[in-house]
Amino acid sequence: MSVSRTVVLTKAIVKCPGDANFEIREENLNQELKDGQVLIETHYYSPDPFIPAAFGNKNWEGKPLSGFISGKILSSKNDKYSDGQFVMGLLHAATHIVTDVPFVSCVPHCSSLYVVEPSDKLKLQNFVGVLGMPGLTALLGLRHLLDIKKGCTLVVTSAAGAVGSLISQFAKKQGAGKIIGIAGSKEKCDRLINKYQYDVAVNYKSPNYEKELAEACADGVDRYWDGVGGKTSEMVLGHMKEGGLVVVCGSISNYCPTEEEAKEAKESDNRIENLVKDKKLAKTRMTVFNYMNEWPQGIKELGRMVSEGELTFDESMEEGIENVPKAYRDLFEGKNVGKQLVRLK
Ligand code: NAP
Repeated sequence: MSVSRTVVLTKAIVKCPGDANFEIREENLNQELKDGQVLIETHYYSPDPFIPAAFGNKNWEGKPLSGFISGKILSSKNDKYSDGQFVMGLLHAATHIVTDVPFVSCVPHCSSLYVVEPSDKLKLQNFVGVLGMPGLTALLGLRHLLDIKKGCTLVVTSAAGAVGSLISQFAKKQGAGKIIGIAGSKEKCDRLINKYQYDVAVNYKSPNYEKELAEACADGVDRYWDGVGGKTSEMVLGHMKEGGLVVVCGSISNYCPTEEEAKEAKESDNRIENLVKDKKLAKTRMTVFNYMNEWPQGIKELGRMVSEGELTFDESMEEGIENVPKAYRDLFEGKNVGKQLVRLK
């Protein structure tokens, strides 16, 4: 049967994921499938920021690296799946996977293997990006939490990434006024304006960042969609209008911290909480896994939008399972544009 190559965590991740944190193990998948199992040939693996954050823990050492995959069922002993179907789910970084369905994933209630239907317009890789968890985060976060009011001013961080590049497009549709995106390079800032419907772009690596952000937010901010946390969040909250709304989607600037960074992050969080109180802000947390019952419908909605050319999105592709560590490093160093992916077949 098949030989599977699996990325295994060898050392808990601190700061930035890299080669020293992973190794590739080869395994012969030559047993017969048991009842309820499927064998998947993985075509795409999705490095997502929450995975290294979760894997900063020694308990995961020696275990396969989790993550969303899309691929093809080579053989099935499960009534719900047939040979040749394409699927997407939260499994792990491996070229071939034998799994029970439902399976156990690193997110306790995310155990679904979704059958997907790639076409000319909807590629299999899109099902772990714009049509997968990141796309659903933007769609459902806007729908349930961000509460866009006509003409409101919105700030978005990690704005040129998988989630941020979609947030602006959905928010514009819902009537947002000025949308300010924060990203880490001039090239990304140009994309925010030219492709993703941002009105103003601010480069947080500019020597004049603080001043440029203050100018962009001079009339006050009503809504903040946050993917980075830390100093940037403190600064944005400083520009928010009383009674504004903060949706915390993630805090990548604080993921996998050293001890010193963890201490600083805690102090920063305390300052953020004080700003929330002083400005009477509402603050809520987006967790896409809380809306799993809406995923099947959401995937269809996103598929329709992509098919009809309503959404602009980008993908950065690495080739081969040995480049999974590099893909994570790129994600944490901001080298990706749009969704970071790895092609495994
Ligand atoms: P992404 O934006 O495609 O990629 C991550 C980006 O973060 C990088 O390209 C980089 O862009 C930026 N970044 C990296 N380190 C940074 C730092 N120290 N400070 C500021 N920015 C930094 O990733 P994504 O998948 O869309 O996720 C964005 C955020 O949303 C993450 O925090 C993620 O955990 C969160 N998220 C949460 C959920 C949920 O359900 N809660 C779901 C999906 C994603 P620059 O070049 O601009 O620095």
